[in-house]
Amino acid sequence: MKVTMGKIVSLAKRRGFIFPSSEIYGGISGVWDYGPVGVLFKNNIKNEWLKSMVQEREDIIGLDSAILMNPKVWDASGHTEAFADPLVECKKCHKRYRADQLVESLRKEEEGVTTRKDLEKLKKALKGVECPECGGPMTEPRMFNLLVPAYLGVLEDNKKPVWLRGETCQGIYVNYDSARVSTRKKIPFGIAQIGKVFRNEITPGNFIFRSIEFEQMEMQYFVNPKEADKWFKYWKPQRLQWYQNLGIKKENLRLRQHAKDERAHYAKDAYDVEYKYPFSAKGGSASGGSWKELEGVHNRGDWDLSRHSKYSGRDLSYFDQDTGENFTPFIIETSAGADRAALVFLLDAYHEEEVKGETRVVLRLNKKIAPIKVAILPLSKHKDLSPKAREVFEALKDKFMCEYDETQSIGKRYRRQDEIGTPYAVTVDFETLKDQAVTVRDRDTMKQDRIKIKDLDSYLCDKLE
Ligand code: ATP
Repeated sequence: MKVTMGKIVSLAKRRGFIFPSSEIYGGISGVWDYGPVGVLFKNNIKNEWLKSMVQEREDIIGLDSAILMNPKVWDASGHTEAFADPLVECKKCHKRYRADQLVESLRKEEEGVTTRKDLEKLKKALKGVECPECGGPMTEPRMFNLLVPAYLGVLEDNKKPVWLRGETCQGIYVNYDSARVSTRKKIPFGIAQIGKVFRNEITPGNFIFRSIEFEQMEMQYFVNPKEADKWFKYWKPQRLQWYQNLGIKKENLRLRQHAKDERAHYAKDAYDVEYKYPFSAKGGSASGGSWKELEGVHNRGDWDLSRHSKYSGRDLSYFDQDTGENFTPFIIETSAGADRAALVFLLDAYHEEEVKGETRVVLRLNKKIAPIKVAILPLSKHKDLSPKAREVFEALKDKFMCEYDETQSIGKRYRRQDEIGTPYAVTVDFETLKDQAVTVRDRDTMKQDRIKIKDLDSYLCDKLE
C-alpha cells in the first residue's frame, strides 16, 4: 500500500477534515479551512502539545499574544531589513519559486543543502535552470519579504501600516519580562504559545505542508548562556519523542543538523525534526519519499532579547540572585507547525487493507488525537433502536467526544468511522433491547466485545485513557 498526497487530500475533503478556503469562489491559493472533523482533530493535536509543554511541566508557562504588534517588533526581529527570501520567477509562465527550495529540489541527497541567504551561491546554482512547470527561462534570484502587510485606521488617507505576524515567537520575546515577573519564574524556564501566523510564501503547495496562513506551536526556553548547549541537547530528542509518543513511526522521523551556511546568521546551532513525506520538492510524488522539515529546534543565542532590549530601550537582561551573575538569556526554541503536524499525523495513520474483497481505508490515529472517540450507531433507524441508542449517547457525551449516526447502512457508517479514525464504534441492536448490552467494535483489531450498557463508561475509560 502506498500513501499518496492525493489519497490524503481526497479523504480530508470527503470526510470533513480540510477544505480549500472559499472554494465556492474558486478558492485562494495556499489557504485552507478545517472542517467539522478537522477542527476536532487539530484542536486535539494542539491540546496534546500544550499538555506536554505546560500542564506536565513546572518550568514552562503559556501565553496567547496578539497577531498584530507594534511594527517596531519586526524591525528588531530583522524581518523588515534582511529577513527576506530569495525568489526566482519564470519569464514565460510567471510562476514563482523560492530559489533555495528550487535548488534543493534539483540537488541529490548527497550534495548537501543550500542556504537561502547566500544570493551569489544561489545564482550560480540556478544558472541555466529552466522552469519546472513550463521549461521557460528564469529570472535571477531576488530578495522578497515574507511578511504580510495590513493597514489600520478608518480614514482612507490616514492608514497605518502594520504586519500580520510571521512567527509567534516575537510575541513571546516582547512579553518575556512581564510573563517572568508575574509568575516569579527563574531561569531556566520556557514560554509556550500556539497561534496563527501569515507568510507571503512564494510557492505555497503540497496541501497544508506550506500555506500562507497557518498555525505555529512554539516554545522559547530561556537559559543561562553557559547552559545553552546542555538545554539544546535536551530539547532535540524531547521533540522527536513527542511525535513518536503520538504514534508517528520511528522510521519516518529523523533529526537533521543544519549546515553552517543554512542557518540564520544569529543561530548558534539548529536541527530540524524531519519527516519522510510522499512528495518531492517539486511537488510531484516521490517514489521513496523525501525528508523535509516538520519542526525546528534552534539555539538562537542572545540575539532576540538583545535586539528587543536595543530597539525598545527596555533592559531585558537577567540578574541571577543565586549566583550574582547578570546576563542576557540565550534562547532554545522549539518551533512546530500545527498544520504540518496534522498532515504528518494523517499521512502516517493512513492505512488500506483488503477485507472480504473490498479495500478498507482506516486512519490508525493515536486515540488521543482521534477527532471522534466513540461512534454510537443504532443498527438501523428504528422506532425502538434509535431512542435506546440516543440514551447511550446521552450517557457518554459528557466524557468522550461522541458521534451519533443513524443515517445510511451500518456498513457505510463503519466505513466512515474507520476513515476518520474513530477508535470505538458502539452498535445498538435488537438484542440490546433484551439484554441491555451493546457491541463495541475496535477500529484496529475489528474485534467486537459485548458490553453491558451500565459498564460501558468504565470499559471505554479503560480503553481510552
Ligand atoms: P521551511 O524551510 O519549510 O519554509 P521554515 O524554516 O521557514 O520552514 P520555521 O520558520 O522554522 O520554518 O517555522 C517553524 C515551523 O512552522 C516549521 O517547521 C513548519 O512546521 C511550520 N511552517 C513554516 N512555514 C510554514 C508554511 N508556510 N505552512 C505551514 N507550516 C509552516
